[in-house]
Amino acid sequence: MAHPQEVFALLSAGTAARSTSDLQRLDTAHIVHPQQVVGRPAAPIVVARAQGSTIWDTDGRPYLDATCGLWQCAVGHGRDELVRAAADQMGQLEFYTSFWDFSNEPAILLAERLTELAGDGLRRVHFTSGGSEGTALAIKLARLAWDHAGQPERDIILSRQGAYHGSGSGASLSATGIPPLKEGFDPLMEGFIHLTCPHAGRTNTDALVDELVETIERIGAERIAAFIGEPIMGVSGVIPPPDDYWTRVESVLREHGILLILDEVITAFGRLGHWFAFERFGIRPDLVVTAKAITSGYFPFGAVLIADRPIELLDGRMLRHGFTYSGHPVGAAVALENLAIIEREDLLGAARKQGTELGRRLARLEELDQVSEVRGEGLMWGVELTSGDAVQLAAAIRKRGVIVRGMENRIVMSPPLVVTDEEIVRIADTIEAEVGILS
Ligand code: PMP
Repeated sequence: MAHPQEVFALLSAGTAARSTSDLQRLDTAHIVHPQQVVGRPAAPIVVARAQGSTIWDTDGRPYLDATCGLWQCAVGHGRDELVRAAADQMGQLEFYTSFWDFSNEPAILLAERLTELAGDGLRRVHFTSGGSEGTALAIKLARLAWDHAGQPERDIILSRQGAYHGSGSGASLSATGIPPLKEGFDPLMEGFIHLTCPHAGRTNTDALVDELVETIERIGAERIAAFIGEPIMGVSGVIPPPDDYWTRVESVLREHGILLILDEVITAFGRLGHWFAFERFGIRPDLVVTAKAITSGYFPFGAVLIADRPIELLDGRMLRHGFTYSGHPVGAAVALENLAIIEREDLLGAARKQGTELGRRLARLEELDQVSEVRGEGLMWGVELTSGDAVQLAAAIRKRGVIVRGMENRIVMSPPLVVTDEEIVRIADTIEAEVGILS
């Protein structure tokens, strides 16, 4: 860690470009990073610029961005169209609140566009600055809807083990089903029940549906506000559910009047080759949480789509909720252009095509003793190891210039939807080479 005197000397060194080691020293001295050990941070890769599926560090070293950061960068890095959209909007109106009866044109047009894309019944939008705000809002809206409908005791939220719904200290983390992420933050919110993680090939839909039905019978449908789930779990290692899982879960929830919140923070806007994963799974959720790829990460932004049913339940109720940057005009303008790029360049088709090829190449890994499962769909894939440390594996892959994410015994990847044929080959070959030398 840098001595305070050294840090001061660096800080007062003027505006000249800093060396990579100076930047790393300043970073470890001052920034408390997400997902790093406090007081013992590793020196970061300082990212200087990016284009397409490549990022470059401050020493000019390129990396193939096979995670697209944190799943967000659908249209690839360095898109002039999005830079222009942001700059033009900032020149026109940098920000004004959307609270009360204020609005702005980009937010209005984006709401129209999103509801067109979502289709039937998903006619309303509430804007956020990210995914955790969105899941928290969806859960609050579900509880508020039942409260307003005269059923205030209907407040329990069903979630699943392995789920990731965000890091906020309230609803989003309470809904999350990954124990290490929750350790030390008690007390979290009450009223969350985590069901078995649906895992295609490892869990059976009958058993998962039985568990859901038994849970509803034990607690009483009149106590349950909503069920929240990611269409395909992302953070816990890309875990697709059995194919008939979602339709069967949806029909049980409908039978009992329980609202369905789909957390599409990763899957919306093309990752699975559809605008929304609910189309892929053939279901109609009551609330759909989106963020990340809505702006490809060029602006922190999110949108919760709300179907008619919760709106009817909420009719006439004051929504005492909102964040300063809800409906930010620059974020909305960037989102509109980003969605236009996805459509213009048929990036949904690209996700299907490139995803199939990436999956086909990764599937070869299943022949290795070191690999227990390769799973995924579209452009989100996970490789689970039978033994070995996936964090170290990801570090070794990174040394070869490809960024994947490693945790416990699995690595995950989600390249931009503009990933090229050659880049797909390189991702798969680099992983194969490193997994092959794991002992
Ligand atoms: N839900 C899901 C499925 C996510 O993957 C994430 C972030 N990875 C979130 C919610 C939280 O989003 P944010 O980090 O933007 O708050």
